[in-house]
Amino acid sequence: MQEPNYPESYWVESAKRIESDNSIESQKIETVIVGAGITGITLAYLLVQEGVKVALIDADRIIHGTTGHTTAKITAQHGLIYDKMINQSGIEKASLYYKANNEALQFIADTIQKHEISCDFSRQDAYVYTNMDEYFDKIMLEHRAYEKLGITGDVVKELPISIDAKLGIMMKNQAQFHPVKYLNKLVEAFVSRGGILLENTPVADIENDEHPKVILKNGGQIEANKLVLATHYPFYDWPGLYFARLHAERSYVVAAKSTKPYAGGMYINAESPTRSIRYTPLNEGENLLLIGGETHKTGQGESTLSHYEKLVEFTKNNFGIEEISYRWSAQDLVTLDDIPYVGHITADEPNIYVATGYAKWGMTNGTAAARVIRDLILDKQNDFVDLYTPSRFDANPSIKNVIVQNADVAKQLIKGKLEAPDKTIEDIANSEGAAVMINGERAGCYKDEEGQIYLVDTTCTHIGCEVKWNSGDRSWDCPCHGSRFSYKGEVMEGPATEPLRRIDLD
Ligand SMILES: Cc1cc2nc3c(=O)[nH]c(=O)nc-3n(C[C@H](O)[C@H](O)[C@H](O)COP(=O)(O)OP(=O)(O)OC[C@H]3O[C@@H](n4cnc5c(N)ncnc54)[C@H](O)[C@@H]3O)c2cc1C
Repeated sequence: MQEPNYPESYWVESAKRIESDNSIESQKIETVIVGAGITGITLAYLLVQEGVKVALIDADRIIHGTTGHTTAKITAQHGLIYDKMINQSGIEKASLYYKANNEALQFIADTIQKHEISCDFSRQDAYVYTNMDEYFDKIMLEHRAYEKLGITGDVVKELPISIDAKLGIMMKNQAQFHPVKYLNKLVEAFVSRGGILLENTPVADIENDEHPKVILKNGGQIEANKLVLATHYPFYDWPGLYFARLHAERSYVVAAKSTKPYAGGMYINAESPTRSIRYTPLNEGENLLLIGGETHKTGQGESTLSHYEKLVEFTKNNFGIEEISYRWSAQDLVTLDDIPYVGHITADEPNIYVATGYAKWGMTNGTAAARVIRDLILDKQNDFVDLYTPSRFDANPSIKNVIVQNADVAKQLIKGKLEAPDKTIEDIANSEGAAVMINGERAGCYKDEEGQIYLVDTTCTHIGCEVKWNSGDRSWDCPCHGSRFSYKGEVMEGPATEPLRRIDLD
């Protein structure tokens, strides 16, 4: 069956498009930031205010990565994390983590006020709820953690909206916004202060001699005193072994228009499958309900289309709405101890910085990361440097996780090589894709609406795992580190920087 064509994410679709002139006069810039999502844009905005000459480069259009496909809750409530973090990393780190994210929330609120940004910002209480008895203890322990950390919140036995919940924990006075409208304004402020914005300029590689240098796909090179990788996954991942300490998780969002009043609040359940709920106001008294979840490791698990179907069913059963106006999916990266990696990419490379691993809480973590890196570049004191440093590796659980994570990569690597597809090109219907066998060799096959065949080598160009077909987004996704390729094999998302090899049917 042919899938209806959905528009882009609501955030991307409903905000104006900022134009960039894509020109650069000097090939040596004080600071180069690669990646124009919430991290790169916030940092670029902060640095130009300090008089730093900055070039902000993106492979695509700005805010078209994960930030353009988020649910945009701005909160320090990141699921049930604080009790776990106190046990795993100690109360001091848990307290710093809350403080970093809470200050980031306040920074966003202040910036919106300062520039009078119209971005549907509103204060909302945030809830984690459960319908499973085995989570009751976890909710109560989380509440105790809130008390220890001085977080304002409470245990609740029902939710303000009509969703079944046996128990929940509320964090008071969090927020939500339209991320593209907010960041567009920061980009305008950046450009008006002389910042250079280069879109559609993929960076192919990095050389690090006396000064770091970005090697552009178009053949150009830009040298910098300071280089920041705000590329979501740091494609320059060998020096810090990032491939061994990050994994990608994919999540889905459906958005449905509603004229019924919404009682407010942002919600996420504690158990799996995840259900994340918020609204955003539309014109004429209408709301857009955003229902997210169905998280799974990228390139692993069932047919991706079925994840959308389950979210649609949830929307229908709980809100009585069948018509879906938008749907989108994206992925985020998770670190070994659930705390992002922000700071010097390795202890030996003081001029290259990284910010990654927000575990689906990048509105506050990405903002906090930008503030940490600004202070590192300007040599200013920042309370959160040690919390986020990628060079931390004293936590025992991290070491255990390294082994588990690499075992999973090894498993995917070997499993992919051993699995021989049982389909041939003839089995693939129009608008479908799958791994097939051709002349005894494995290949990825996609047939478009007219039956045009696209064949690719399914070996990921990052470290050689076998990519899997993503039916929901018509892409080839890598189960090892989350690289994604179009049906033609072009890179859509790193760490891979090279396309899949195209196979000629002849
Ligand atoms: C479905 C979903 C829902 C979420 N909901 C929430 C939420 O409610 N609240 C919350 O706090 N967080 C949420 N998150 C997480 C949050 O959206 C992300 O953590 C955050 O957007 C990541 O921002 P970023 O700047 O690191 O990356 P991105 O926004 O992905 O930006 C990275 C940029 O780098 C560019 N790039 C990559 N490689 C190159 C290259 N080689 N050359 C040049 N440019 C390159 C990309 O084109 C991209 O524009 C959610 C995530 C998902 C997946």
